[in-house]
Amino acid sequence: MIVNPVRDRRCPRTGEAIGGKSLDLNYGTEYEALRTEVKAFLDESWSSPEMRETSSEPEERVQAFRRAAIERGYLYRSIPRAYGGAEQAADGLAAQVIREEFQKAGAPMEAPGVGTMMLVPTLLEKGEQWQKLQFIPPTLTGQMVWCQGYSEPGSGSDLASLSTRAELVDGEWVIRGQKIWTSSAHVADYMFCLARTEPDATKHAGISYLLIDMKQPGIEIRPLRQMSGQSHFNEVFFDGARTPEHFIVGRRGEGWSVSRATLKHERNAIGGSAQTHALFDAVVELAREVGVEGESALKNPEIRQRLIAIEGYVKAHRYSSYWQHSRESRQQSAGSIPLLNKIVTSNIGHDVARLALDLLEDGGLSEPRISLYARPKPRAEDWIFQYLQSLGVAIAGGTANVQRNIVAERHLGLPRDSAASRRKGSSTA
Ligand SMILES: Cc1cc2nc3c(=O)[nH]c(=O)nc-3n(C[C@H](O)[C@H](O)[C@H](O)COP(=O)(O)OP(=O)(O)OC[C@H]3O[C@@H](n4cnc5c(N)ncnc54)[C@H](O)[C@@H]3O)c2cc1C
Repeated sequence: MIVNPVRDRRCPRTGEAIGGKSLDLNYGTEYEALRTEVKAFLDESWSSPEMRETSSEPEERVQAFRRAAIERGYLYRSIPRAYGGAEQAADGLAAQVIREEFQKAGAPMEAPGVGTMMLVPTLLEKGEQWQKLQFIPPTLTGQMVWCQGYSEPGSGSDLASLSTRAELVDGEWVIRGQKIWTSSAHVADYMFCLARTEPDATKHAGISYLLIDMKQPGIEIRPLRQMSGQSHFNEVFFDGARTPEHFIVGRRGEGWSVSRATLKHERNAIGGSAQTHALFDAVVELAREVGVEGESALKNPEIRQRLIAIEGYVKAHRYSSYWQHSRESRQQSAGSIPLLNKIVTSNIGHDVARLALDLLEDGGLSEPRISLYARPKPRAEDWIFQYLQSLGVAIAGGTANVQRNIVAERHLGLPRDSAASRRKGSSTA
């Protein structure tokens, strides 16, 4: 079984024990049986010709598939039935097997977005019962879309310096200030937002975690044009927007600790290994098809060398993810592994896309498009988008530099980075 049993390693020549230990990376019969079950379900419910030819709208088909997958216990596994989930016992390996098979079949997983990725786990951990019942079910089905209002101009890595204010007036929070880089604010129904509610308290103690209806007067959303040409994120201006007093997660002034829970889930979602595997498989396929000096690029020694280097990281990342899931499913700390997984994911995404662009040569100079994962076979414009996006992923959810400093200082016990200490005092982590 992965990660659990650790066998003694022996020198093949002398038979003597060698200092280190080795891991058995097989899943074992129980999980291989689950894999067979999942495959059969996917063949029937997602990949069968009848399903492909169904007359229902693509979105309806996805919804119906998700409902069936929840019923079988494959999606939203950790979420109680009462809130629309599958309520399965925590089992990181089962979740990994399911992810792998869904990924191979190109089947939809959980609804994408910060709602399912970040808010739902935060509410489960810190929310009140009525909040879970009201907000989680429509978020899981994709009917309620969320955006994350953390960053402000001048408050990114140093998030606790944020200055958006919320003041309690006649049973409602009245919000004034500005957020920036707010992904999907233009389509969101609600924002989970950090606002300063206790102006006299110390930096971290004065913040609350509020849930705000985005469709109301007093909120202006201005799109920001990204280098990919799209406008996926925005500036959001609050000028007297309101939210009821009880639309607060955790207690008043304790939003900082609630926000830590959300960030942990954000990094875990960014650092997942299923995506890096899919990306790597796609670039191998591209190398097989593209010609270099009259033969498949896959036969070119230089390209092979680059692929092998990336594959080393992809495999190591997969096994680190297994280790993280195993630890967390036993309620044990995974230490610096989640942070490292996030850094490695960004690096792999970048290296794979750079190699793809080199393979495509002039063909890679098309207009970028958002759809790498929607199409089984990425086109040139998908690869350009992936390349540009890989630069942003290294910043979102806490920059790679800040993550590296945390690993170095808190986990490896290295001395503090004096240059970083001279900044305002980074605290995203
Ligand atoms: C694609 C994308 C989507 C995003 N979506 C959202 C969203 O939906 N909601 C939201 O609230 N925010 C969002 N963000 C914002 C993101 O969280 C911030 O950009 C990030 O926290 C960094 O903050 P900053 O941009 O202010 O950079 P800064 O904090 O100003 O950092 C600038 C540079 O200084 C370095 N640096 C800063 N402090 C330190 C330190 N202590 N040690 C070492 N180096 C340091 C950083 O690594 C970086 O290179 C998104 C960002 C991206 C790229």
